[in-house]
Amino acid sequence: MMSRLAPRWPAWLFWWQAACPQGVSAQQRTWAGASRIPGPGGPWGATGTSPLVRRGSSSASSCAPEVVLTRERYSVRRLPFSVVSEDDLAALERIVPGRVITDPEELEAPNVDWLRTVRGSSKVLLRPRTSQEVAHILRYCHERNLAVSPQGGNTGMVGGSTPVFDEIIVSTALMNQIVSFHNVSGVLVCQAGCVLEELSRYVEERGFVVPLDLGAKGSCHIGGNVATNAGGLRFLRYGSLRGTVLGLEVVLANGTILNCLTSLRKDNTGYDLKQLFIGSEGTLGVITAVSILCPPKPSAVNVAFLGCPGFAEVLQTFCTCRGMLGEILSAFEFMDAECMKLVGLHLHLACPVQESPFYVLIETSGSGAGHDAEKLSGFLEQVLGSGLVTDGTLATDQRRIKMLWALRERITEALSRDGYVYKYDLSLPLDRLYDLVSDLRARLGLHAKHVVGYGHLGDGNLHLNVTAEAFSPSLLGTLEPYVYEWTARQRGSVSAEHGLGFKKKDVLGYSKPPEALQLMQQLKALLDPKGILNPYKTLPTRT
Ligand SMILES: Cc1cc2nc3c(=O)[nH]c(=O)nc-3n(C[C@H](O)[C@H](O)[C@H](O)COP(=O)(O)OP(=O)(O)OC[C@H]3O[C@@H](n4cnc5c(N)ncnc54)[C@H](O)[C@@H]3O)c2cc1C
Repeated sequence: MMSRLAPRWPAWLFWWQAACPQGVSAQQRTWAGASRIPGPGGPWGATGTSPLVRRGSSSASSCAPEVVLTRERYSVRRLPFSVVSEDDLAALERIVPGRVITDPEELEAPNVDWLRTVRGSSKVLLRPRTSQEVAHILRYCHERNLAVSPQGGNTGMVGGSTPVFDEIIVSTALMNQIVSFHNVSGVLVCQAGCVLEELSRYVEERGFVVPLDLGAKGSCHIGGNVATNAGGLRFLRYGSLRGTVLGLEVVLANGTILNCLTSLRKDNTGYDLKQLFIGSEGTLGVITAVSILCPPKPSAVNVAFLGCPGFAEVLQTFCTCRGMLGEILSAFEFMDAECMKLVGLHLHLACPVQESPFYVLIETSGSGAGHDAEKLSGFLEQVLGSGLVTDGTLATDQRRIKMLWALRERITEALSRDGYVYKYDLSLPLDRLYDLVSDLRARLGLHAKHVVGYGHLGDGNLHLNVTAEAFSPSLLGTLEPYVYEWTARQRGSVSAEHGLGFKKKDVLGYSKPPEALQLMQQLKALLDPKGILNPYKTLPTRT
């Protein structure tokens, strides 16, 4: 079953739990790593599929409650932008012929976020194919004072990609061409609408990997990834997009094309302007093309899935892991028992080890199978012998590696099937990382369905999620500002990797000083004086 068994590994390590966890029958046990939602091939452009479209057609979501209009749920006032007229539609039709979408049915999915928590009322979606078309669109919108909401795969977690009122949606779905790939340097240049999974496949066929991976890879666009400065599952190994993105092409609010699409690794000529747009969530410009450095594909990959008796042991396992696996460690993820319960309940994925309070997923990626196996073997003996880990399983072949990753990657999906999800994506000091989850469980009692904690432990990033039957202002009041104040006391970040979008824009002050906020407002005013780009997002509402 397991390939390349290392002779020194104890046999039990390869045992795949035969018994099903409580409540999941043998027939129900499925591993869904390959049929990951979201996946490619839907009606959204040549390659991308909106996960929402797929969710909409599933039985699970057919009875999902209607998503309330953002402007009704939240207290937000429409800014004095123009309203799209018949003349505007005619002008836009001349810019992107046949790609001006006004059909209400087609506009349903792009008006609602992946989590089904916010809904805009845009009446127009544009599908440009080239940077020049984006430039013409923005020049026109700038002149006419029409607000615009850039949208990639619409998988964002903070309500950044959907309009709040009637902003025109500019979708990058048709901007999905690879421009070039250099098979010595590993530099990939592509349009912003390329789906991450498609890019991964493309470079992997050439012996490289995209330095970014996340559960939404089947739908998210590289432009959206850069616009959110997405972190994801390979952050521990390859670091931030701020390091791996070498160049960007961006269309500014007035239609100017800023071509900083360099492929150079070193370039100290003046200010590094691309950094302004990485993580700017569509508020400073529309990213139209990306140049990204892809590292060589590791030839030996192993994934261990381990059960730990407590969070202290999770941390100790991480320390031991860093010490013993060093340069081959590529991911260290954790999830609590509640997460495992939910992926079992909603996705019928079975726990591959004995039930434990915590689980960790450790991935190693290297160039020498024998060398890596030996190191991993030593590490596993150590953590098992010392009681840090009580049970575990190991995968070395692609299929089983995917199965183990599915347990971690699909938690977001399982949560979204559990009800309304209150999501918090926090950076916290490692030793306090899980305390907030325990605190909240006690604070919320029976008011919440589930309070779960999981995340990119190796990056100090906690995903704290609370589910309830439906949105409730009183539950929200119990959660906020409590979570943000708690985080600020630890000098943590209220958004580790998801950005601020619409939902978190007013809590920026918990993680940044007033001087930083003021400078951000000034930069916004400089680059987008009319404020047409993704209004109501990222920066706090001005009172
Ligand atoms: C199952 C699942 C797992 C996820 N896992 C992770 C994870 O591990 N790490 C992580 O960081 N995120 C994760 N996310 C969140 C999300 O996938 C990322 O934020 C992703 O980078 C968004 O890409 P997108 O193309 O869907 O962008 P969208 O959701 O369409 O847009 C996100 C923001 O970027 C702006 N934008 C999009 N395209 C452009 C562009 N071309 N130019 C300018 N602005 C643009 C939008 O206006 C919006 O503000 C996950 C989401 C899901 C559903």
